[in-house]
This record gives sequence, C-alpha cells and structure tokens, in this order.
Amino acid sequence: MHRGGLNSAAMHFTQQCIHQPVATRNTMSTLPNCPKCNSAYTYEAGTLLTCPECAHEWSRSEASGQEDARVWKDANGNILQDGDTVTVIKDLKVRGSSSVVKGGTKVKNIRLVDGDHDIDCKIDGIGAMQLKSEFVRKA
Ligand SMILES: [Zn+2]
Repeated sequence: MHRGGLNSAAMHFTQQCIHQPVATRNTMSTLPNCPKCNSAYTYEAGTLLTCPECAHEWSRSEASGQEDARVWKDANGNILQDGDTVTVIKDLKVRGSSSVVKGGTKVKNIRLVDGDHDIDCKIDGIGAMQLKSEFVRKA
C-alpha cells in the first residue's frame, strides 16, 4: 500500500546508486519476483502477492512450493539425492588449478546445493569441489 507510491522513486534510486541501504535490500528480497513479468516490485495484499506492473496475483504458498520442488537430475535425467555416488561423464577442468577430473571418475557421497554448480563433493586426489549435475551420471 504505502510501497505502491515508492515504486518509481525506488527505480530511479537503483539506477543512480548501487549502494542501497541494507534495510531496503532486505525488504525487497523477502518477496519473490513476479512469476509472469519478473518484476521485483511485488507487494503483499493479504495472503496474496501482487505485481504492480502486470497486475498478476498469486499466493505466497504457491511461490514457495515451486522452490521446494527443485530436483537434481543427472545427464540421463535420473534424480540425484544427497549421499549418492556418481560418475563424471567427461573431463572437467578444475577452476583455479591445472587439475582435471577425468571422465569416469567416481564421486562418492555428493551433496546437492543450489547454484550454477549444484553438487558439492570431495574427489580423491583433488579435494572439495563443485560439479554440475549435467556432467555426472548416477553410479
Ligand atoms: Zn508482473
């Protein structure tokens, strides 16, 4: 409600200055972007979230349900789980070193994480590193 009038001001503020006060940033990030137009200026209207830019309304539980539904799949589309053993399907360069993880390397006890590289693991002879699930196959 009171945030409705602040939208245009906030937009100008973002363009001119990247050092937003922490409090402002936190308020913005607690609400998900609009699933329709990806606007960051969503606001709560009762139990619903509303987008001021395309007028889309959706429920918060729906939005958080989507996050919980994330699944990790290997190169063959099999679902991966924490603690799985996987095999690397191609040679992968290790960022920041000259080491290469050879295709066919077995990786035990993976941990699934959010992010671009979505598997945390430890590889014998190399140490802790992160892999992309698209480059492994469930062993
Ligand atoms: Zn929208």
